[in-house]
Amino acid sequence: ATPTALMVGTGRGAQLGILIKGPEVLESTRAVDTVVLDKTGTVTTGAMALTGVHAVDGVSEHEVLRLAGALENASEHPVARAIAAGAADAVGGLPPVAADFANLPGLGVRGTVDGHLVLAGRVRLLEDAGMALPPSLARARAEAEERGATAVAVGWDGAARAVLTVADRVKPTSAEAVRRLRALGLRPVLLTGDNAAVAASVAAQVGIAAGDVHAEVLPEDKVAVVRRLQEEGRTVAMVGDGVNDAAALAQADLGLAMGTGTDAAIEAGDLTLVRGDLTVAADAIRLSRRTLGTIK
Ligand code: ADP
Ligand code: MG
Repeated sequence: ATPTALMVGTGRGAQLGILIKGPEVLESTRAVDTVVLDKTGTVTTGAMALTGVHAVDGVSEHEVLRLAGALENASEHPVARAIAAGAADAVGGLPPVAADFANLPGLGVRGTVDGHLVLAGRVRLLEDAGMALPPSLARARAEAEERGATAVAVGWDGAARAVLTVADRVKPTSAEAVRRLRALGLRPVLLTGDNAAVAASVAAQVGIAAGDVHAEVLPEDKVAVVRRLQEEGRTVAMVGDGVNDAAALAQADLGLAMGTGTDAAIEAGDLTLVRGDLTVAADAIRLSRRTLGTIK
């Protein structure tokens, strides 16, 4: 590829809403055959809302929202922001969180609120702390996940006490984006830290095969999924938005960051999709093939 052709490709990219780190980036897209898509914030809007509160007998919704809301208020995660906003609306002011607050990436949050040691996050986080869900909460969780919602377990003082449901929506353009990626001969793969039921629901909505869904993947293991695909002989593009996607974006043969995502993702990516529109990922790959093709 001549430098001039690559510069033309770069300029066309800017018009399409694609920021390219350097003209040489286009070279690496040529052989891409697999596109790994992060779920939250990439395939879905990431603009989640609190949609339900299920507490065990003897615990009020108000208390759940006060404690979980206060704790999530200290986290930047989209799930956390939905819970903090919903809780603040429902109960008014939220109490402070003690200095022991800990953000547990890909799992949830922990901290002391009103003298209670509170955990909020994946069911697994609570189970690992010896707080299994009682049947009523396990049922609430299963119903939420069947609908494609995310269930957040809340426990304090050694017992699981509530399940909050948070719903996200698939972006209106995601199914079309997957169709276009397939039309380019690429195999779409869904990669998420969220649970298998939510991941399956999102995959079905956008047309990703059940066998190409990797769910409940911890942030540090996302990079391993990309590496494994590469070891199978695939040339991998990864599209992501989160801090938890940065290592996988760097490992991929081509990293595409959502411009609506975190700075860490944008720094790790080779390309930025300025408007956060996944259909532009297909444009980016088509553009680079065309740019390189014209000068072959
Ligand atoms: P994704 O890979 O889909 O972008 P993450 O790896 O950031 O998601 O998180 C995985 C899962 O962990 C989330 O879907 C959510 O269920 C849970 N989780 C992460 N952080 C929090 C939090 N602060 N509060 C509640 N749940 C959380
Ligand atoms: Mg994400």
